[in-house]
Amino acid sequence: MKEPGRYLVTAALPYANGPLHIGHIAGAYLPADIYVRYLRLKGRDVAFICGSDEHGVPITLRARKEGISPQKIVDKYHAINKKGFEDLGIEFDIYHRTSAPLHHKTASDFFRKLYEDGEFIEKEEEQFFDEQENQFLADRYIVGTCPSCGYDQAYGDQCEQCGTSLSPKELINPVSALSGNKPQLRKTKHWYLPLDRYQEEWLEEWIDSHQNDWKANVYGQCKSWLNQKLHPRAVTRDLEWGVPVPVEDTDSKVLYVWFDAPIGYISATRAWAEEKGKDWEKYWKDEDTSMIHFIGKDNIVFHCLIFPSMLKAHGEYILPDNVPANEFLNLEGDKLSTSRNWAVWVNEFVEQFPDKIDVLRYTLAANFPEQKDNDFTWKDFQNRNNNELVAVMGNFINRALVLTKKYFNRQVPEVKELTDYDRVTLERARAIKNDLEDRIEHYKFREAVKIAMDMGRLGNKYLADTEPWSLYEKDPGRVATVLNLSLQLAASISIVIEPFLPFTAEKLRKFLNISKLDWGLAGQSNILEAGHEVNKPQHLFQKVEDQVVEQQVEKLQEARRKKEQQERGVEPAKENISFDDFTRLDIRVGEILEAEKVPKTRKLMKLKVDTGLDTRTVVAGIAEQFSPEEVRGRQVSIAVNLDPRRIKGIESQGMILMAEDAEGRLTFLSPGTKTQRGAVVK
Ligand SMILES: [Zn+2]
Repeated sequence: MKEPGRYLVTAALPYANGPLHIGHIAGAYLPADIYVRYLRLKGRDVAFICGSDEHGVPITLRARKEGISPQKIVDKYHAINKKGFEDLGIEFDIYHRTSAPLHHKTASDFFRKLYEDGEFIEKEEEQFFDEQENQFLADRYIVGTCPSCGYDQAYGDQCEQCGTSLSPKELINPVSALSGNKPQLRKTKHWYLPLDRYQEEWLEEWIDSHQNDWKANVYGQCKSWLNQKLHPRAVTRDLEWGVPVPVEDTDSKVLYVWFDAPIGYISATRAWAEEKGKDWEKYWKDEDTSMIHFIGKDNIVFHCLIFPSMLKAHGEYILPDNVPANEFLNLEGDKLSTSRNWAVWVNEFVEQFPDKIDVLRYTLAANFPEQKDNDFTWKDFQNRNNNELVAVMGNFINRALVLTKKYFNRQVPEVKELTDYDRVTLERARAIKNDLEDRIEHYKFREAVKIAMDMGRLGNKYLADTEPWSLYEKDPGRVATVLNLSLQLAASISIVIEPFLPFTAEKLRKFLNISKLDWGLAGQSNILEAGHEVNKPQHLFQKVEDQVVEQQVEKLQEARRKKEQQERGVEPAKENISFDDFTRLDIRVGEILEAEKVPKTRKLMKLKVDTGLDTRTVVAGIAEQFSPEEVRGRQVSIAVNLDPRRIKGIESQGMILMAEDAEGRLTFLSPGTKTQRGAVVK
C-alpha cells in the first residue's frame, strides 16, 4: 500500500451542551489520539482536527432550561471540554468552535456554492408549529411516540431508544417540547440535499468499494440505510440559533446543524493552517491526502453518507478513506447515560486521579467497543493497573534500573556476547513492533494495546529467565549483556507505549535520560549507547487499592440515587455529621404568643415565641402561606441556640422549623399533642 503524502484526522465535534464522559472518550477521541500519536512518531504529516459543535437544538433547549443564553452555554462547555481533552493527553492540533466567524463564513460559502450550482431541491411544505411559542418545531423541539419501537419520548430527529432516525411527521402523538401543546401545521420553505439521486449516481458504488477496508459495523450500517433507499434530506431549519441561511430573503432560517457541523472540520483546518502558515487546501483537496473520521456509531450516517455527499456535490473536496466508528461503551454493565447520571465524568476523574490518566487510557483502549458494545468496570481498571501495569511493565522497568544502578553505577553496560536466547528475545521485540504497526494501521486498537504491553511482558520474562541478580559474582559479563538488552527493551517500551500511555512514556524517557525517539527504533538492540547514564530508579505506576474501587462504585450508585430522588421531587441527602454535632443543636417546643406581618415584605412574619426559657422575637418566612390569626397559639419546634440575625431591621432570636415539599409548601413541625413549653426536641 502506498503511503499517503499527508493525513487529515478528525474526531467527532462534541456538542457544547454538557461535560464529557468516558463513553465519548472511548468512542472517538482516544482511538483518534492513539492513531495520530503513532503517525507523528513515524514522522508523517498529519493534521488532527476537532472542536465544539455549538449549534443545534440540544444547546438551545439546555439554555432555556438553565435560563441563560445559548452563547453562555457553549462558552462554558467549550472551555470545560477543551480542558478535559488536554488533561487526558488527547492532543488535537486545534480545538476550534462552530460559533467562530471563520466557521460561519466557511459554512455559508459552502451552502451558497451548492445553492448556486443548483444542487438543492427547494420544497415548500407544512411543518409543525407551536403557536404559543410562535416557533417551528424542528428536531428535538418535538417529542412523540416512536413508530418503530413505541418509545414515548422519541425526538423529532431520532429515537434514542432504538436509534431509528426520524422526521417529526413520523412521530405518533407529537407534542411541542417547549409548551407541551399539540402542534399545528404551517407552510415553510426548505432546501434539501438529493441523497436519492446521489445513491443512484455514485454513493452506493462508493460505499461498496469500501466493503473490505471499512469496519464491518460501519459498512453494515451504511448498507442498511442504502437498502432502505435514501430520501432527500433538508439541510435548513426554522430556528434562530445557528449559521443563518445565506441566500434569498430567509429570516429566522439557519443551516441544519448536521450540515454545518462537519464543515466545522474544514473551518478548523483553515484556522489551524492560518496560524501555522500552512496550506489548508492541501489537506482537503489533494488526492494524496488520507482523510480519516473517528466517530461513535450514532454518527455513521452523517459521516459516511451525508457529509461525503456534501463534499462531492461541492466538487472540490476529497472523500474520506476510512470512518472507523466504534460502538458504545457501557459502565458496570449498564448503558452510560448523561440524563440518568450513570457515567464517569472526565473532569471528575482528572480531579480525583491526576496520576492515573494513563491507567484510564489503558483500560479504555483494552475495552474499546470496536466491533460491539463493551463494558468499563472499576474492578477491571484496578486489575489492569495492578496486574499488568504495576506487576509487569512497572516491575520490569524498576528492576532493570535498580540493577543497573547496583552493578554499573547507572551506566548502560556493554554487550559482551549474545546467546541464542538473547537473539530470540530481540527477534520477538522486532516482531512486536511490526505486529503493532499492522494493528494500528488497521484501526485494531484493542489488539494493539495488548501487543504494546507485550513489549513489557517480554522484558519482564527476559529478566525473570536470565536472573542477573544471581549471576554477578560468577559472570559479570553476562550480567552486563542482560542489562544492556533490558535497557534497550525499556527504550523500546518508551516508543511503543507512547500512543497509548503518553504520560508514562514521558516518565520513562526521564528515567532513561533520553528524548522522544522515532518509531523506527522500536525493537532495535542499539537504541542506547554503552556508557549512557540513566537516572535514579523510581516507580512507573502505583497500586490501586480495593477501597478505591468500592468508593467509585458506591459513588456511581449514589449519583444515580440522587438523580432518581430529584426526579421524584426529593432533595438529595446531605453529608453525614457526627452525633456530637447533632446534639449541639438546641431545639425546643415553643408557643407562638403574637404574630404580625413585617410591613413591605411578602414573606416575613414577626413572631413572639415563649420557648419555656424566655420569650423572644423571631422572624419567619411564612407569611405567604399563613395569616397571623392561623399561627397565634400554635406550638412549634424552634432552634434556640442560633446566633441572632437582623432581618429587615428586626433582631431574630431563633428559627422556627418547617417541612418544605418539592412545590415549596410549608408545614409546621408541631407536637402531636400539646406539651410543656421548653420541652427538648431530640
Ligand atoms: Zn424507537
